[in-house]
Amino acid sequence: MSTKQKQRARGFFQEHTLYPSMVVAKAASPINKNGFTSPSSTLNLDKGDPLVFGKYWKKKSEECMVVIKGCELMSYLSDTSNVCWYMLPELKDAIERLHHVVRNAVTKDKYIVIGTGTTQLFMAALFALSPSMTTSHPINVVSATPYYSEYKDQLDLFCSERFQWGGDAGEYDKNETYIEVVNYPNNPDGTIKEPMVKSIVEGKLVHDLAYYWPHYTPITHQANHDVMLFTLSKCTGHAGSRIGWAIVKDIEVAKKMVMFVQMSSIGVAKESQTRAAKIMGVICDGYQKFESIEPDQLFFEYCKNILRERWEKLRRSIELRKVFTVAKYPKAYCNFANESFEALPAFVWLKCEEGIENAENYLGKLKIRGRGGVRFGAGSKHVRLSMIGTDDEFTELIKRLSNAKY
Ligand code: PMP
Repeated sequence: MSTKQKQRARGFFQEHTLYPSMVVAKAASPINKNGFTSPSSTLNLDKGDPLVFGKYWKKKSEECMVVIKGCELMSYLSDTSNVCWYMLPELKDAIERLHHVVRNAVTKDKYIVIGTGTTQLFMAALFALSPSMTTSHPINVVSATPYYSEYKDQLDLFCSERFQWGGDAGEYDKNETYIEVVNYPNNPDGTIKEPMVKSIVEGKLVHDLAYYWPHYTPITHQANHDVMLFTLSKCTGHAGSRIGWAIVKDIEVAKKMVMFVQMSSIGVAKESQTRAAKIMGVICDGYQKFESIEPDQLFFEYCKNILRERWEKLRRSIELRKVFTVAKYPKAYCNFANESFEALPAFVWLKCEEGIENAENYLGKLKIRGRGGVRFGAGSKHVRLSMIGTDDEFTELIKRLSNAKY
């Protein structure tokens, strides 16, 4: 490891000692049998565990059942005629079908690469887009503030010679090529972002569209970018299956991403692929054979209603206390739902009022753990809380926020 890499690694560990909330296993809150923390313990809303959609999947338990025999799915290989040779054909079909139903991304004439979550594919994309010859220093990876904190965390941890964290895309002013990650709707603040770098040098773009689904945000266009990342974790809520997919324009980029996945995990678990295909199929059947299902029982409508209800309750609680403010999202027409609505993001991005300097610490006193703004490249006046935890967690959040006093 070079001295520079060692310094970056040291920086990572120092930062994560400062922000222990990152270490989920250490988020010590006694959990009772409902999966909820007891009233005296800290309510952990730092993580974005998408258990909110569990209610829907409970109703669909039988339909989503997958049975795998002992002799099945044993090979590393799936379809050697495909660039992504470890991807089961039924998963490829299910992904294309889902995008066809929702019309949120163009898949025609593109390559699909799957990974163990988008977390793996993000690194695969950086590997594929960065120069292969080791240049004098790594290519900068930037994203506009407030950016998804894990981008920086992952890069700092891996200390690659090919790429490094370059900070806020809005501030990038080097005359060197770069990779910009554009995340929309953006985690943490739910906004629709555009590329921000204004450099005379051309850069490469990775679009992280983890939340570009119609229960979170109006689908205003079919996304059609060079590299687009999606994840089952935030689409259906099955984070535990660890399925992510990239839709890639250039075959050479797709091949390099496949190579990365091959070198880090020799493919993706086929049990997960089978389950993901089944779940996507159940969602699409609801829309394509809708005579058998009530409109409000369709996946995206059902989940949007839960999120809408939560957002209304949260806004009421915030407005009443006047300790925090939360942005209002503009209404936009959703081509999927055929109605206009305001975004209902997976996280709330709270800003504390004058007189309170550290939003994360303030919430800590109410025994609510959020992720402080500094982790996202923003100031300490901001904090992010998950809106996609269990019902019990959300009810407790509203209860604890009622103790907020200015
Ligand atoms: N991108 C964004 C913006 C996310 O919020 C997340 C999950 N928190 C991911 C990527 C990673 O998702 P996955 O579970 O597929 O690794």
